[in-house]
Amino acid sequence: MSLRAQLWLVFLLPVAIMAGLYAFGLTIPVPHLGRDYVLRIDLPQGNEPVDLPTIYGPQDRSRPLVVIDAGHGGKDPGSSGSGRREKTLVLGLALALKDALLDQGGVRVALTREDDTFLVLEERPEIARRMDADLFISIHADSAGEITGISGASIYTLSSQASDEAAARFAERENNADRLNGVEVTGQSDAVSDILVQLSQRRVQQNSAEFAALIVREGRSTLKFHPQARRSAALAVLRAPDVPAVLYESGYITNPADAARLTSPEGQRAFAEALARAVRIYFARQTRE
Ligand code: ZN
Repeated sequence: MSLRAQLWLVFLLPVAIMAGLYAFGLTIPVPHLGRDYVLRIDLPQGNEPVDLPTIYGPQDRSRPLVVIDAGHGGKDPGSSGSGRREKTLVLGLALALKDALLDQGGVRVALTREDDTFLVLEERPEIARRMDADLFISIHADSAGEITGISGASIYTLSSQASDEAAARFAERENNADRLNGVEVTGQSDAVSDILVQLSQRRVQQNSAEFAALIVREGRSTLKFHPQARRSAALAVLRAPDVPAVLYESGYITNPADAARLTSPEGQRAFAEALARAVRIYFARQTRE
């Protein structure tokens, strides 16, 4: 057999086997102690990798996909205060937002985690990117340490340089979760030479900023914001270059009033409804353009 024919055989044999499986309805009969067992293979739908989260809502790819990311989880509890842990508080908010978005309709929704699972920081925007998400919302709760009297929500968007000292300190703290896991987050390449990528990133940043502004507008009457509600920082979790992303710091877990509100059904509902409105208006504007 010629080398060329051998190469073709190497390439075509797996294809022939798969075609054979397909022809037999994806089942392989396995003889086993005189009884008929059938091994059924579930192939992933379309080109979606199998380990991505469930997509809720209309199974219509033309509908925008919102990926909600509850911060921390598993061995990484995040901040704590007022007898509560950030990983639990933000999961409650994430699930409430999922429900509000599904009630409102029109969008597909996925969560990076739906239980107390540990996720590496870099996995989170990567999930959104691989799912071809249209919006990424990471939910956290802030800590003021021993300082009392600080409360309210703030919304972070990505900046190439931390916009002020507070934002830089915040970035340090949130990025620490990854360093604990032994993953270097600072290694992300800043050498983005391709002008097209830069333009796309600028567009993504504009969209992120627009969504952040909508959250403030839609939440003004029902949510409690920090006096400086809009901030930008170099947060690893926001580094999906092609998915508009915000990090929503829902409030201060170290502030008893914030912590109580954010864990109450009323507080969760107020948060979820304001963000769902912001999402609806954001996509309505996108389709008008
Ligand atoms: Zn956090």
